[in-house]
Amino acid sequence: MIIQLKADCTDKQKAAIISKVQAFGYKVNEVTTFERHYLVCVGKADFDIRAIGNLRGVQDVHRVEDANMLVSHQWRVHPTVIRLDDGVEIGRNNLSIIAGPCSIESEEQVQITLDFLQRQHIKLMRGGVFKPRSSPYSFRGLGIEGLKFFSRMARERGIKVVTEVMQVSQIEQMYDYVDVFQVGARNAQNFNLLDELGLVDKPVLLKRGLSTTLEEFLASAEYIFCNGNERIILCERGIRTFEKSYRNTLDLNAVPVLKHKTHLPVIVDPSHGIGIRRFVEPMALAAVMAGADGILVEIHHEPELAYSDGDQTLNFQEAEHLFRKLRTAYALVAQ
Ligand code: PEP
Ligand code: MN
Repeated sequence: MIIQLKADCTDKQKAAIISKVQAFGYKVNEVTTFERHYLVCVGKADFDIRAIGNLRGVQDVHRVEDANMLVSHQWRVHPTVIRLDDGVEIGRNNLSIIAGPCSIESEEQVQITLDFLQRQHIKLMRGGVFKPRSSPYSFRGLGIEGLKFFSRMARERGIKVVTEVMQVSQIEQMYDYVDVFQVGARNAQNFNLLDELGLVDKPVLLKRGLSTTLEEFLASAEYIFCNGNERIILCERGIRTFEKSYRNTLDLNAVPVLKHKTHLPVIVDPSHGIGIRRFVEPMALAAVMAGADGILVEIHHEPELAYSDGDQTLNFQEAEHLFRKLRTAYALVAQ
């Protein structure tokens, strides 16, 4: 059960609500986000919720059967839209395209990519500076210095910066230079990191873990929400299966199922999802047809020379072709 408190609910009113709920045998968790104040109540007893709804200080009360209550569609029936400045929005009636290289490599590369994105009217650029790599000998990113020039150059053009944070201690040093914090698949269940990102007033793009179920994925989002940050974007990026013909198995079933279960926007990363350049386009289109709110895709002016993930990275010609088709596909499903 979720009780949303009125903005002017007094401490005394809140205490009265809590003791009433506890009397029904419920455990009460207070959740204060950047937007609102809730009591998330866990229990089983069946009672008429009007007994709570009529109390002073209560805005509304909902019974929610899902374990991950705050991200549940049962409670918040309207899809959540994530708003950034300059009118950039993610979710509902709008296809978000987030494109850019796997890794930020140089100022020249950022410049060339931004020029291209601007021509394509794309407002969100991705690019890792802290890279989780399977081998410690692979390129691991330019770090904070890379983020600084990426951010400066992107902001000069009103393009938003989406980049991965790998550990708690990086949040503060990255904060000023980031518009959306990405949590990578390998950190999808790093609960300390999720807790801390819950305290940050910037959106979080949360990737599904390599072997997390949708329930676990939603629980990770719930961690961020219940710590205070309601602005979460879920990203399906493929899971580990027995199939070896491609890097991961892009689980497009997840798109309609997640959209049914949660009010949060759901986007898809076909680049990591299949890991093979020539198949990125069909899987991106399939994701849009399945109902995705956006696509996260790796692009590079010279994929053959990319420092990481070149094999799954589109060149600009391929990217332009994809973007055109994505927009057509989205117009079709949005009808
Ligand atoms: C990435 O986006 O470059 C990345 C490392 O993704 P993932 O965490 O999904 O592997
Ligand atoms: Mn990558």
